[in-house]
Amino acid sequence: MTDNITLTMIKPMAVKKGYIGPILAKIAEGGFRIVAMKYTKLSLEQAQKFYEVHKERPFFRDLTAFMSSGPIVAAILEKENAVQAYRDHIGATNPAEAKPGTIRALYGTDLGMNAVHGSDSIENANIEADFFFAKTERY
Ligand code: GDP
Repeated sequence: MTDNITLTMIKPMAVKKGYIGPILAKIAEGGFRIVAMKYTKLSLEQAQKFYEVHKERPFFRDLTAFMSSGPIVAAILEKENAVQAYRDHIGATNPAEAKPGTIRALYGTDLGMNAVHGSDSIENANIEADFFFAKTERY
């Protein structure tokens, strides 16, 4: 288990709006190093697997339908204390409540379409990194 990584996804609406470049620039500005990255699309089954922890939540169906609706960018980011540092950098789950200048405040639309995912614990960061990337795809 690595305690200095986090997993991010640039969500479908942010990709559709052309925000991949600006979001990657903000990630670099925050001092995060890209360890692995891919442009891909989740099937509904893959989205359900990724968000398994939320399967009892009322928004699970909307969330997984949205996350499998178009291409995403997935990346492993490295920085000291990466999970918390990245959550601070992206802002609150609801873009309307995210601090000005954070990625979700700048590029999010609403609670569902909040521009990016960021792991919520070191354990989940490692599980989510393994979901997308083989060890041989990390540099
Ligand atoms: P996060 O860790 O900040 O991403 O937030 P959560 O783990 O609580 O929720 C996971 C994702 O589910 C969030 O990033 C939102 O995109 C989505 N989500 C959370 N609450 C709601 C909601 O009430 N409605 C919808 N449609 N999506 C939600």
